[in-house]
Amino acid sequence: MQAFVYTAAPARIVFGADSSVGVAGEIRRLGLSRALVLSTHQQKGDAEALAARLGPLAAGVFSDATMHTPVEVTKRAVDVYRAAGADCVVSLGGGSTTGLGKAIALRTDATQIVIPTTYAGSEVTPILGQTENGVKTTMRGPEILPEVVIYDAELTLGLPVAISMTSGLNAMAHAAEALYAQDRNPIVSLMAMEGLRAMVEALPGVSVQPQDIKARETALYGAWLCGTVLGAVGMSLHHKLCHTLGGSLDLPHAETHAVLLPHTVAYVEEAVPDLLAPLAALVGGRAGAGLYDFAARLGAPVSLAALGVRPENLDPMAELATANPYWCPRPIEKTAIRALLQRAFEGARPE
Ligand code: NAD
Repeated sequence: MQAFVYTAAPARIVFGADSSVGVAGEIRRLGLSRALVLSTHQQKGDAEALAARLGPLAAGVFSDATMHTPVEVTKRAVDVYRAAGADCVVSLGGGSTTGLGKAIALRTDATQIVIPTTYAGSEVTPILGQTENGVKTTMRGPEILPEVVIYDAELTLGLPVAISMTSGLNAMAHAAEALYAQDRNPIVSLMAMEGLRAMVEALPGVSVQPQDIKARETALYGAWLCGTVLGAVGMSLHHKLCHTLGGSLDLPHAETHAVLLPHTVAYVEEAVPDLLAPLAALVGGRAGAGLYDFAARLGAPVSLAALGVRPENLDPMAELATANPYWCPRPIEKTAIRALLQRAFEGARPE
């Protein structure tokens, strides 16, 4: 067996339909008493309802969370947090809201309770991406990792089907890359495969019956595992390409992951088919092609063209994505990456 190092992330996970009813109890258990509830504009109503339920434990609502955690928004939120005399944040939403909570915690040492409502997985990672003057920087550290995560599938019932599918594929991308991570280890590989299995079981059900609480619970369980492995081991080609394209062309986060995943997995599969064999068995055939068929069956976008990428973007993207060498089980070659991008642009099925 390959030698390994495993460090567990010290978070408390509370899982179950209706578990968000226990937020007040979690705040008290932590010895805290003033929670600033965070959300996006779209989820402001849910955040206000939660604050009303918390009564005197709520210090207010800040509903300006935005994609990519702009530092300007964080500064305003920190001012609100301090002015309200808050001692913790409750982040209700997807990766954008969780990102804001992490950014506040980084600056104020606020304790974080996260109630995730997408499958992005940020709630269980010690990673924060922030943007300032159009530049995105990523950092990691123990102070960024949320202390408590409450997974309540009831709150995901309203996540639109299209976002549910791309968000689920975003989660699967974390787990797929964990299978061939340079610093992979047996526990992380187990969690990654169980996360992938849960997603493959749940997403088809969610796509046809979004109100199916059992399928929603299974998807959220998968999201937890996939997020956990994202926080535990290093990511590779897939996340690098998504960051490059997403950042440079301002593409939507989950959709970009959904489109690129079959192609990046197919690229890596050429070099390490053994490491991806469990995923191939799960989706049928080869891992890359099987993921493509799975995403297509879910009705997820399968081409970069559908996300607004233009043919003239592909050369500069291939250049950028291969400029800084990074670890990948298969050498990163510009010609091969350009060909990968072409296939992803056209939405061609990987071989
Ligand atoms: P998001 O948080 O931006 O949410 C997408 C939209 O869906 C938002 O308008 C949101 O309000 C809405 N929404 C969320 N849950 C809903 C629900 N249950 N019902 C109705 N509407 C709902 O999207 P995301 O994909 O979850 O997160 C993307 C962001 O998270 C990106 O900025 C990405 O970089 C970051 N991220 C960070 C990490 C990390 O570890 N640091 C991991 C994954 C993603």
